[in-house]
Order: sequence, then C-alpha cells, then structure tokens
Amino acid sequence: MPKIKVVYNRKNCIGAGSCCIVCPKFWQMNNDGKADLLGSKQNPKTGDYELTVEANKEVLKSLEQSADSCPVQVIKIVKK
Ligand code: SF4
Repeated sequence: MPKIKVVYNRKNCIGAGSCCIVCPKFWQMNNDGKADLLGSKQNPKTGDYELTVEANKEVLKSLEQSADSCPVQVIKIVKK
C-alpha cells in the first residue's frame, strides 16, 4: 500500500467542518472550533500537523476528498 502524508495547517482552519463530514475516520471537530487530524503530530518547525498513513485506494480517496472539500485549502496530501 502506498504511504501518504497528510499535512494540515491547523492555524488557518476556519472550522467549516466539511473535512469531518467526508472523512470522519481522520477528522474530528474540536471544542475550539477547529478540526483535529486524528493521530497526527505537530511539526515543531512548521507548526503544521502531520500524519503518515499507509493508504489503500478507499482511504486515499477519502483523504483527498477532505482536502478538496476544505474551503481554505489547509489540508495537503503528499504521496511518498
Ligand atoms: S474543511 Fe478545512 S476549514 Fe473546514 S474544518 Fe476542515 S480543515 Fe478546517
């Protein structure tokens, strides 16, 4: 299975929530009004949250949909 990295600029999330609707396995709204990328770690250099996963087609599609659905494009999917 291909490894992909999800990079999330949480600082600029506006809390639209669409990522959580299309991909609830990886995204959840937090009480502070922003989404959390479940299982991710913050990169101390960039401040972004990062998660590397082995993604089958279904998971990849779902994550890509979450990135596409984000109105402020703070979710990036990087294929490794
Ligand atoms: S879709 Fe984008 S702006 Fe909306 S909650 Fe998810 S990350 Fe934040």
